[in-house]
Amino acid sequence: MGILEGKKLLVTGVTMDNSIGFAAARAAQEQGADVVISNFGRALGITRRIAKRLPTEADVLELDVTDEQHLADLPGRIEESLGGLDGVFHSIAFGNPETILGGRFVGAPWDDVSQALQVSAYSLMSLTNAVRPMLGQGSGVVGMTFDATVAWPAYDWMGVAKAGLESCARYLARDLGPDGVRVNLVSAGPLKTLAAKAIPGFEEIENVWNDRAPLGWDEKDNEPTARAVIALLSDFFPATTGEIVHVDGGYHAMGV
Ligand code: NAP
Repeated sequence: MGILEGKKLLVTGVTMDNSIGFAAARAAQEQGADVVISNFGRALGITRRIAKRLPTEADVLELDVTDEQHLADLPGRIEESLGGLDGVFHSIAFGNPETILGGRFVGAPWDDVSQALQVSAYSLMSLTNAVRPMLGQGSGVVGMTFDATVAWPAYDWMGVAKAGLESCARYLARDLGPDGVRVNLVSAGPLKTLAAKAIPGFEEIENVWNDRAPLGWDEKDNEPTARAVIALLSDFFPATTGEIVHVDGGYHAMGV
């Protein structure tokens, strides 16, 4: 019996089969969960094709986290697809690579910064709030961060957005805890996904990771990250909330 047997999950941010969301959806199904996946806009067609590569083809919902109507419709569409909800994986981020990433920190335009903050940080709250009436005792929300306690090359305003996301997760943990809803993040090392490839100069970070991480690090292997996500969505972390679990080969704990 899998650790997610009987659980119903929404997994967002599935664009390609190298998306962390895809690895999480696959791992969740392998552990017994019923899963619905989401994405938005032009990539939806790709997501529908990718959904067929899961162990069991998942329903695909259109969800742009900046679209109030999508958020308002979400509970009804999840109910139709799964008949309930026990957990959400927020695997969403966006920053314009031409204006706010890749060394373009100072002087970055507010419109693009505010978009990054809305999509990558605020949306943890808006998505959670949209499905809150469906989330009962023992359910969980998990999001993805990239250690926001330090400044990285190239990461720029996405680093600020991740700092906001980390704080947002703690406030959500505070406010949803009394309902028995847990909110946690996974802080992964660099992984070769679309989002990472879009950041000019991100390979500078990737190059040092495998050398410094005591366990080593394979940037093409999303499985360790996906497993941590589904463990946090399972009943195996019943007293854990407001937490950031590092899945980075141990990099964060090393000085040099
Ligand atoms: P990914 O495959 O590109 O996933 C990011 C997802 O966010 C995409 O599906 C993207 O859709 C979606 N998205 C963007 N704007 C959205 C919006 N307005 N509404 C709904 N969805 C939207 O890359 P990933 O690496 O798996 O990223 C997943 C999460 O992990 C992100 O939070 C990322 O910051 C985090 N993370 C990644 C790494 C890494 O090294 N890759 C490390 C630590 C944390 P489109 O593709 O259609 O734009």
